[in-house]
Amino acid sequence: MKYQLTADYHTHTYRSDGHGTIEGNIQEAIKKGIKTLAITDHGPFHNKKSRCPFDYQLINKFELKKLQKKYPQIKLLSGIEANLISLRGDLDITKHQQQAFDIIVMGQHKTPHGLKFWDNISWRLRNFFPTNKWRREKVTKAYLKAMENNKITILAHLNRYIKANIKPIAEMAAKKNILIELNGKRVDLTQSEIDDCVKAGVKFVISSDAHYSERVGDPKAVWEFLETHNVPKDRIVNIMGEPIIN
Ligand SMILES: [Zn+2]
Ligand SMILES: [Zn+2]
Repeated sequence: MKYQLTADYHTHTYRSDGHGTIEGNIQEAIKKGIKTLAITDHGPFHNKKSRCPFDYQLINKFELKKLQKKYPQIKLLSGIEANLISLRGDLDITKHQQQAFDIIVMGQHKTPHGLKFWDNISWRLRNFFPTNKWRREKVTKAYLKAMENNKITILAHLNRYIKANIKPIAEMAAKKNILIELNGKRVDLTQSEIDDCVKAGVKFVISSDAHYSERVGDPKAVWEFLETHNVPKDRIVNIMGEPIIN
């Protein structure tokens, strides 16, 4: 089931591990009728090859400011896909740095780079015990602390790498007005986890997580997910109108 997207809040460029430019993403978003676009390159502790240090993030911000004048028909937001990097709920940008962004997408990834020794070991343990209940509880607590203590806008691709308990996370997300993402590359939530989110009062957002400009505004996996799963339409913040029939 496909809808017109009003916004795409999670897109990458060549400054992290994407392949397009900011301007390429903007032009594609305009072509697809999108009204708001965020650029969210990976944070400074993302894996060695594709991390985007804070000063590069500021270059993105500067470039967006210039391009906003050239493309007044679309609202441009400066964002980051920050990494959850410890079981204490730390992010890879400080609270002070967070103030520089309009939007903070928080994602948890398999191999962050530059972690402290014990954080590194405890993070990597999941590779050996990905479904361990004790680990799951620890990771859930890390999410809750991160949400409590940071300025997070969106939780990206929940349950893709490290599994967490969705119910308490959904309750905190609803309380703090944090959106839960349906990710355009793959949705890793089950129907009963979606139902827990709905019960908690969560709002969802659909993102492309585009790494190529032509994928901006094209969350293919979400459209497929909506064919077989029930997500109340009025809980999705960035779609409009009736389903598009191809
Ligand atoms: Zn991610
Ligand atoms: Zn991403």
